[in-house]
Amino acid sequence: MPELPEVETVVRGIAPHLKKRRITQVELRRADLRVPFPKGFKERLEGAGITGISRRAKYILIELDTAETLVIHLGMSGSLMFREAPFKKHDHVIFTLDNGKKLIFHDPRRFGLMDLVKDTKTHKLFAHLGVEPLAEGFNSVTLGASLKTRSGPIKTAIMDQKVVVGVGNIYASESLFQAHISPLRKANSLKKSEISALCEGIKNVLELAIKSGGSSIKDFVQSSGKPGYFQHSFEVYGHTNKPCLCAAKHGILKITPLVKKITQQGRATYYCNNCQK
Ligand SMILES: [Zn+2]
Repeated sequence: MPELPEVETVVRGIAPHLKKRRITQVELRRADLRVPFPKGFKERLEGAGITGISRRAKYILIELDTAETLVIHLGMSGSLMFREAPFKKHDHVIFTLDNGKKLIFHDPRRFGLMDLVKDTKTHKLFAHLGVEPLAEGFNSVTLGASLKTRSGPIKTAIMDQKVVVGVGNIYASESLFQAHISPLRKANSLKKSEISALCEGIKNVLELAIKSGGSSIKDFVQSSGKPGYFQHSFEVYGHTNKPCLCAAKHGILKITPLVKKITQQGRATYYCNNCQK
């Protein structure tokens, strides 16, 4: 499933090709994705000029000069790519630009979503969302304030969109590993220094993933058509029963610490008992 870094990668990949362009034609090759397209979707888009491209959580926001924003969510397997005909199976939406280029939304599992929104701050898709992890507003003070009232596990807390958006399952394990914090710790038990380390860990893993072009564990394809490669850099995720990286750092230990896999809220968590406390 595309996570925040993949979505950011898509935004960065398509933005230069969309900026200041006009949408001349929209072809809907079916009536719905996860939900039906909004009323008059095609008509409201055709002729609209693109004034900006950004991201909020895992939503791609394409601002239009019609005072509406085209909101796209990639769902489980969605991708956006500039391609030419012939179109493939699961190419559900084709946006043609005024320079003739075609942006294609391809989504085999159809969990994606498209909407046209007037105000992305107050709209129901966005109103409940917490701070962006890569924004300045996400720091040890704001994270500390959110964690204060939470007695559940820290991993669950950082995956809560009200606390911070876009920390998916992989990045939750990776950032806790970087911060040397056990995913089982109660969220409100973290010390100030640990909250700082966790903030830094979250920013680091997400930025590294964006730099690497997003992970391509399953279905993600970058907007250029090349897969991302971040999965090779995971330090703990998926390393079940493999020696933890801390073993090398600390020299020869009597017992080599192994990465454990547990389940939290139905999701796999990977961590090391030795270096994550
Ligand atoms: Zn370790």
